[in-house]
Amino acid sequence: MGIPERIQEVRARVARAALRAGRDPEDIRLVAVSKTAGPAEIRRAYAQGLRHFGENRLQDAMEKIPLCPPDITWHFIGHLQANKAKRVLEGFSLIHSLDRYRLAERLSRLAVEAGREVAVLAQVNIAAEAGKHGLPPEETRGFIRDVSALPGLRVMGLMAMAPYSPDPEDSRPHFRAMRALFDTLTASGAQMEYLSLGMSGDFEVAVEEGSNILRIGSLIFSPE
Ligand SMILES: *Cc1c(COP(=O)(O)O)cnc(C)c1O
Repeated sequence: MGIPERIQEVRARVARAALRAGRDPEDIRLVAVSKTAGPAEIRRAYAQGLRHFGENRLQDAMEKIPLCPPDITWHFIGHLQANKAKRVLEGFSLIHSLDRYRLAERLSRLAVEAGREVAVLAQVNIAAEAGKHGLPPEETRGFIRDVSALPGLRVMGLMAMAPYSPDPEDSRPHFRAMRALFDTLTASGAQMEYLSLGMSGDFEVAVEEGSNILRIGSLIFSPE
């Protein structure tokens, strides 16, 4: 199978999972994670109508982006170092990995200087895994309240990764907890739209549990 067939397959599986959950597949955005792909493969995926792509390493992304179609919306999904914040702000439309106040302050300052707004998701370390990035779930509410007060920064939702497991059902309780956290925060006034959950191994479970941004890499770009 080539990239077009693999994308068709992913879309069909997303649609089936959405229908099972009584959701409209159109409400679910597919972000093609192109970290292992070069510009030619990205263009092949683009030709299938994909317009959202995700990268996790700034240096690689900055080399690829100028070689890709200009109307791609780029998502930054990797760990973000403060000294690279300015370049991420320049190249990317949505940062999925905000997880510290100091970084939020820096992004806010840079956004104000540039006269624009930066859109971010707060990354949550949902299973409280040691050595993983993301906010402890119990600190997320206070974090979003504090960060929302910063000018130029817009917290548009939450992102998380389930702990690695070969069984997608293992992700379900984590995704469900994320959805509950999302609902609690929006009910108490946070203006959030996006719940970024689900990768190649567990995206159908993510759809069933309410995710509206899927980050899918290997299933599209690197089949075994
Ligand atoms: C690589 C990556 C993905 C995509 O993972 P696949 O299993 O290849 O689909 C999603 N999210 C993040 C944060 C990643 O680093």
